Amino acid sequence: MNVDYLIIGQGLAGSLLGYRLIQAGRRIVIIDPAKENASRIAGGLINPVTGMRFVKNPNAEVCLSHAKRLYQALESTFNTPFFLEKKLLRFFKNAEEKAAFNKRKNDPAYQPFFNHATQDNTQHADFTCPFGAIEQRQTGHVLTARLLVQLQQFFISHNSYQKTQLHYSDLIVENDAIQWRNISAQNIIFCEGYHGAQNPWFSWLPFQPAKGEILTLQSTLALPKDMISYGSWLIPEPKLIFKIGATFDAKNIDCKPTVAGENSLIRALAEINPRLGSAEVVAHRAQIRPCTRDKQPFIGRHPQHRRLFIFNGFGAKGCLEIPWYSLLFYKYLTTPSASIPAPANINRFYDSHFTG
Ligand SMILES: Cc1cc2nc3c(=O)[nH]c(=O)nc-3n(C[C@H](O)[C@H](O)[C@H](O)COP(=O)(O)OP(=O)(O)OC[C@H]3O[C@@H](n4cnc5c(N)ncnc54)[C@H](O)[C@@H]3O)c2cc1C
Repeated sequence: MNVDYLIIGQGLAGSLLGYRLIQAGRRIVIIDPAKENASRIAGGLINPVTGMRFVKNPNAEVCLSHAKRLYQALESTFNTPFFLEKKLLRFFKNAEEKAAFNKRKNDPAYQPFFNHATQDNTQHADFTCPFGAIEQRQTGHVLTARLLVQLQQFFISHNSYQKTQLHYSDLIVENDAIQWRNISAQNIIFCEGYHGAQNPWFSWLPFQPAKGEILTLQSTLALPKDMISYGSWLIPEPKLIFKIGATFDAKNIDCKPTVAGENSLIRALAEINPRLGSAEVVAHRAQIRPCTRDKQPFIGRHPQHRRLFIFNGFGAKGCLEIPWYSLLFYKYLTTPSASIPAPANINRFYDSHFTG
């Protein structure tokens, strides 16, 4: 079987890139063991303004517009909702955070992302926020697990899916093609999430994986209709289900849920709403984010093997960033004059690893 692209990994990165390539008439095979991954358990939150200093993602506008366009196109193709636009109520954790917001709020670049009216209330329904809150706009969440199951079916129906783990030693990298089992591919694209740190061709890239734990809870009380950010985040779902997350641990890189992780998430929730803090935990999951040292994606071509590519490093922001970067990367792969933005291009690390 001859294909244009062999894609390794069916997380959000491999899935959205693979979808774009198939839509453009390219032949692909995507390989994945179909186990739990970061994309499937993610909260799916899209929030372009984050952190204690309320910093806007430098590509916020373009990322948001491409994310909405792609998720909505997928919704109409598969006739299923994947992206729910919801406001985000951001509780100030302390006076410093509130002061940081007050500095930002008059910046014209930030105007479309805030509704200023809510900031002095210290009580929102049953939630307490002693320092007040701000309503963020242009936020929402992606139903990632549903989307990935749907795209898996799509790849299967296009004879473009193999449920297995790739062993690097089974790949034969030749000048004119890549051979794997009965497949001859013109190119291979690694979209392996945090596993990329072990990839023999790309392990020189400075990955900084970070574990995250997330809880799903069943409430007996009414839930807010907006999402809430309070150091952690809360995402309300139908039938009184809600998710809270996520912990951030750069030391223990394993996928085991921990008692300490659960306790810290519950404690933070109980501080803003003690009654909700005693809701029943119905699921507790842990996975690893593919974070990078300079917090920018790893996209590009291997400097010595021209048929090898990587599309990875989306850290904690995959839902917002992958739609736009998958479009740019698809153009780079298929149009000779197209390029990858410098901050995301892996050629920024060539000099320190490949001299002479
Ligand atoms: C707890 C938690 C909460 C998060 N919440 C959010 C959020 O609210 N919003 C947001 O935008 N982001 C969030 N993220 C981050 C988000 O999950 C990532 O940015 C994104 O999912 C990365 O997608 P990916 O496809 O690069 O990696 P992954 O989802 O990890 O997918 C990689 C895939 O490659 C496969 N693979 C690896 N090696 C091989 C191999 N050799 N052969 C075959 N297959 C292979 C893996 O099995 C996996 O399926 C969260 C992450 C975690 C852990």
